[in-house]
Amino acid sequence: MKLVWFRNDLRTGDHSALYSACKNNAGEGVLAVAAITPAQWFLQDESKSRVQFWLANLQSLSQQLSKLNIPLKIIAVERNEELPEAFLQLAREHRVSELYFNLEYPEYEQRRDSRVTTLLQNQGVQCHSFDSDLILPPGSVLNQKGDAYRVFTPFSRAWKKQYLQQLPNPLPVPPVQPVTSVPSDKVPENINYANTVGADWLIDLWSAGEDAARSQLLKFVAAKFSGYKEQRDLPGIEGTSSLSPYFSVGTLSARQCLAAIQSYSDDCEWFDNQWVTELIWREFYRHLLVLFPEMNRWQPFKPEIEEKIIWQQNSELFDAWCQGETGFAIVDAGMKQLLTTGWMHNRVRMVTASFLTKLLRQDWRAGAEFFMQHLIDGDFASNLGGWQWSASVGADAAPYFRIFNPMRQAERFDAAGDYVSYWLPELNGLTAVQQHDPLFSVARGRPAPLIDYRQARATSIEAFNQT
Ligand code: FAD
Repeated sequence: MKLVWFRNDLRTGDHSALYSACKNNAGEGVLAVAAITPAQWFLQDESKSRVQFWLANLQSLSQQLSKLNIPLKIIAVERNEELPEAFLQLAREHRVSELYFNLEYPEYEQRRDSRVTTLLQNQGVQCHSFDSDLILPPGSVLNQKGDAYRVFTPFSRAWKKQYLQQLPNPLPVPPVQPVTSVPSDKVPENINYANTVGADWLIDLWSAGEDAARSQLLKFVAAKFSGYKEQRDLPGIEGTSSLSPYFSVGTLSARQCLAAIQSYSDDCEWFDNQWVTELIWREFYRHLLVLFPEMNRWQPFKPEIEEKIIWQQNSELFDAWCQGETGFAIVDAGMKQLLTTGWMHNRVRMVTASFLTKLLRQDWRAGAEFFMQHLIDGDFASNLGGWQWSASVGADAAPYFRIFNPMRQAERFDAAGDYVSYWLPELNGLTAVQQHDPLFSVARGRPAPLIDYRQARATSIEAFNQT
């Protein structure tokens, strides 16, 4: 029997491990497995909504797999350390000769895989791993000296060149397999997950499964792709794809996205669309995790910059930021969106992260952890990359003295006040300019501004320059 291990790749299309196991099955059956590890997820700050979304997508995967005659088994343990024994038991019970899985790049996951494969290989089970999460795998986009890129633009240029040379296509759904007598396990609808923050009902806002992901992708490509560059920075409209939750649990692959755009466009301009660049950012952050492994341990990409920053530990300021009670409308609206939906628009993620790190001078790690605990699309590499970028300690980050002015950001990207008035309805009736101004919003019962922007900016830069 061949065994395919599903993790954050809950799809049957463009799944290298599944495809390969089915191709090589030599008349034996194919079995699938997924592991439920609540204590591990808690340790890694997985949000409750993401766990629920993962389970809902696993249920949907189980149905897709059953159409291919592939039963899904569930391993339920608490932590990664218990997985090798559980896998060995399953392998013995079903006479598994080979294990197939797609690679995940964060160190926790690499260590988990290495433990499982070491034990299985010692017991005679062959293990095969694949790069299926990215279009171009880590280590394959290097500069002429063979070194990793540390800056995004040349990485992106080299990535595009290589893509055009290879033109990787998504794999099809594998063919139906011989029937096996093994029954599928029931995917639990709910588990006793220790993380009490973040609401589990949020998943109602996102339909689960490959079909839902695909239909969201096609809707985006047809209606928003061509205008993406102009619309993507406006949080008050749905100008982006909102596909990140699907990427995060792997119901959709980046290769599938490029194929969808390509088949929709008549010319080659699609390749220079800003949306493709965003997918390359996703790849860039994953490459960095592998090539600069200390990032996995919450080290900044640029320690020489962080050495100059003294983070203030102020739980009152931090809590006000977490609850969206800073008195700055765009920041508070963003945090309310996160708390209510498990998702936040990218422009507002940048504004809220900059506000916490540059103006409140709180450690980016606290903000990154809070985001992970609440985001339905929480993704270790992209979250780490986004936070380090915002705090100016990451790859290609803006210099420390470049500090987002929350009022200016709001005027530029939420000029009509649509976004803030949606998330802070108490501001309705004020003009857009007034809505963004903390002094006016106080009169509407909003909290007084936590800081004086100009003073906080000056203090932050002065402290940075003095060290
Ligand atoms: P679109 O604009 O439609 O982009 C398409 C896809 O490209 C996204 O789904 C995502 O997979 C990728 N992408 C877009 N922007 C980025 C980016 N800046 N970095 C990496 N990939 C990108 N993204 C996550 O998926 N998970 C996170 O935990 C996460 N945390 C972030 C934290 C901070 C502080 C910041 C500034 C950004 C973070 N991002 C994260 C990146 C980005 O905000 C989201 O990917 C994006 O908002 C998702 O919305 P969308 O699917 O509509 O994106």
